[in-house]
Amino acid sequence: MHKKQLIEHYQDFREALLDWFRRYQRDLPWRNTDNPYYIWVSEVMLQQTQVKKVGDYYEKFISRFPKVEDLAAAPLQDVLKVWEGLGYYARARNLHKAAQVVVNELTGEVPADYTTFRKLPGVGDYSAAAVQSIAFNAPYAAVDGNIKRVLARLFLMEAPINDAKSTKVFQQQADTLLDRNVPGLFNQALMELGAIICRPQSPACLVCPVNLFCGAFDATRQAEFPKRRETKPTPERHLAVGVIYNKAGEVLLTQRQLDGLLGGLWEFPGGELADGETAEVACVRNINEVVNLSVRNVRYLTRVRHAFTHFKSVVDVFQCDYGDGEVVLNGPRDAKWVTVAALRDYPLPRATHKFLEELMNNR
Ligand code: SF4
Repeated sequence: MHKKQLIEHYQDFREALLDWFRRYQRDLPWRNTDNPYYIWVSEVMLQQTQVKKVGDYYEKFISRFPKVEDLAAAPLQDVLKVWEGLGYYARARNLHKAAQVVVNELTGEVPADYTTFRKLPGVGDYSAAAVQSIAFNAPYAAVDGNIKRVLARLFLMEAPINDAKSTKVFQQQADTLLDRNVPGLFNQALMELGAIICRPQSPACLVCPVNLFCGAFDATRQAEFPKRRETKPTPERHLAVGVIYNKAGEVLLTQRQLDGLLGGLWEFPGGELADGETAEVACVRNINEVVNLSVRNVRYLTRVRHAFTHFKSVVDVFQCDYGDGEVVLNGPRDAKWVTVAALRDYPLPRATHKFLEELMNNR
């Protein structure tokens, strides 16, 4: 069969893609609903997170908050607890805030109107297009990293996918390709293609339903696309934190400010090492600066590593005993003495979970 120039055969392309999607799409829980709120929750969870990780979180979230009113009425801490481990906590905080806007300032229904929905906290171009097209069949093309990769290969697009300046050109291309009769289905089909066939490494071109239309396949240039702008290596931060025990055997947890990285989550006090400082000295100094306590009997527990989007962290964890002082906060929004058994009731960062068991066994 001769290769078809995609630009001349958009309709054939759409049919081939949709036919494949109807037959082979994965059975995912959020595909069995037309409830706009559930579709919205799933799209927020799926941003920057793999499908297999989202499954259980999605089920847990909608059974805990079955209606947008339930989410709006819930304390933020409950929302963060259900989200715990999924990462990018700003998504949960914004979804919670947006649910409150929907219930308190709008009609109580997820807006079936792109402009109103796009203005809600945390809703960007991608999630607005995805939710509006899937839930309401509105003609908006959703463009995320997976879709950019597919488009770059199909059309041999030179624009780097990790450069904000390329956003417009990918959006325009996606708008042109979109099937306006079934935009929600089409967006999902293109996402599915990117997830299981046109994968980042080793795309499965021989079984790809649209290989007949693909510029990269035709030219055997799949490995060259998508193009990327060179980025700086990820910096590493070295931190030291202390699990402080008081006389009652409780430990001190501090809550991070609501905005910013890991906002609203609870953690053990600590901070970064200064130049030339040992981790132990940094632990004692940071505790003093952050919660105004002096500590004694500092014992090394373990080291954990964690990768964030823009940096990696290495965390040395110490146990120590309360020495002197009253808790005065310089940075955190709240602090509590809690029993070790109660730690799991608090939403904690993943890095903390990495040493929780070791802590429980080494008190
Ligand atoms: Fe991707 Fe290969 Fe399909 Fe082209 S033929 S869209 S490179 S999987």
